[in-house]
Amino acid sequence: MIDMTVFKQFQEAIRHLGEMAQPESLTDAQRLARAKAVMHAKTDRALALDLEACVNCGYCSEACHFYQSTHDPKYTPTRKLDLLRRVHARETSAFAPLRRLYTPDITVDELQQWQELVYDSCTECGRCSMACPMGINIARGVNVMREALSQAGLVPLELMAVAQEQAGRGTVFGVGPKELAGCVQALRAQGIAIPLDEPQADVMLVTTVIDVLLFQDALAATARILNHLGLKWTLRSAGFEAANFGLLSGNEALQKAASKRLVDEALTIGARTLILPECGHAYPALRWEGRLDDGRPLPFEVLAASEFVGREIQAGRLQLQAGDGSAKLTYHDACKLARHGGVIDEPRAALQALGADFREGTPTAELNWCCGGGAGAFLINRAAPLRHKAWEIKREQIDATGADTVVLSCASCRLNFMEAAEIDQWPTRIASLVELVAERLPPEH
Ligand code: SF4
Ligand code: SF4
Repeated sequence: MIDMTVFKQFQEAIRHLGEMAQPESLTDAQRLARAKAVMHAKTDRALALDLEACVNCGYCSEACHFYQSTHDPKYTPTRKLDLLRRVHARETSAFAPLRRLYTPDITVDELQQWQELVYDSCTECGRCSMACPMGINIARGVNVMREALSQAGLVPLELMAVAQEQAGRGTVFGVGPKELAGCVQALRAQGIAIPLDEPQADVMLVTTVIDVLLFQDALAATARILNHLGLKWTLRSAGFEAANFGLLSGNEALQKAASKRLVDEALTIGARTLILPECGHAYPALRWEGRLDDGRPLPFEVLAASEFVGREIQAGRLQLQAGDGSAKLTYHDACKLARHGGVIDEPRAALQALGADFREGTPTAELNWCCGGGAGAFLINRAAPLRHKAWEIKREQIDATGADTVVLSCASCRLNFMEAAEIDQWPTRIASLVELVAERLPPEH
């Protein structure tokens, strides 16, 4: 059960998060130079092609929840790349000297305006690219814009504060090894065996500040599943935090450092599998961006919790006590897992094994609508009204299924759903996939 008092305390803490940020004092010229340096460095062949290929057909707008819920032209996905496009046209394109004659240079005021466009109103969900006839990867361009704005010191204060905390103290929202140990102790007191800091293990489980503070049941559920499977696993104090505020804020150095902590611990204990918690952005941060120091691919498997559980069920190693079919469930595919990661069949295998009345939403899987809270948007206070408007698309989609429970595999989505449900007095139950699976584990003999 989620302690709603703790949830409200968490919401209150977010309201004051920005006050902790320490913005860098830079001149306009320095901000512009830093932003452009990133844009130049990141405009490789693929991005240059993306910047040149847009035919202004507008299909991407139809796919974006921020545009669809407001019909404000400023939220047109392709427009979010306009500053990158202009810098490329003037400085790195084939006809740069010519194009400079009729392409205005970007300004610091525009960088300031684009902060809202690439942080508040883009969750890097990738849905626009599914609709684009030219296959333009807008989310990647938006991420490059975040890196440019991060270097220019123009990150939303809430994300800046947490990124600075993670880079400086190594904690997130004040949660470090001591708080993890307290959480483990509390779960052990409930009779759940949780190995911590084992020197060797086949499986390394990582968790997230959100689970430690709010969704301890999700961590407990994953632990119970791993114990039931008889796996040799552990959590590690020196590398347990899956939340990566380097990725969310656009600070590449922090992104790599935060991932390295996890990778180093997994290598130290000889893990063959690293299991991520129910956290959307942790998946691309480690699964796709994670590398060894010398750039080689990771020598161990990285799996999302829902992916791991689904695979075990598909392989017949994990069998559940099926329900009587009366529970009406639907599933929200987190963008980073389904659209970016292809984790689609595995959670459905788990949902089927629950023995419930499972109802697919429309659209679903890789075309599912984003809930509006990902990529750090949930933490940006000024984005709350826009986020809620975008979420209304999601609510209509779920209501149309007639389900009484929506199942999630991402803590950020879960927070966003909880906040929106509280505002709308939405009665649908919001549940974690691993928690539902753990509830249906057969009794131990
Ligand atoms: S990535 Fe998602 S949120 Fe961003 S512009 Fe595209 S559809 Fe909109
Ligand atoms: S769908 Fe693709 S080509 Fe069409 S406007 Fe959007 S980015 Fe440009």
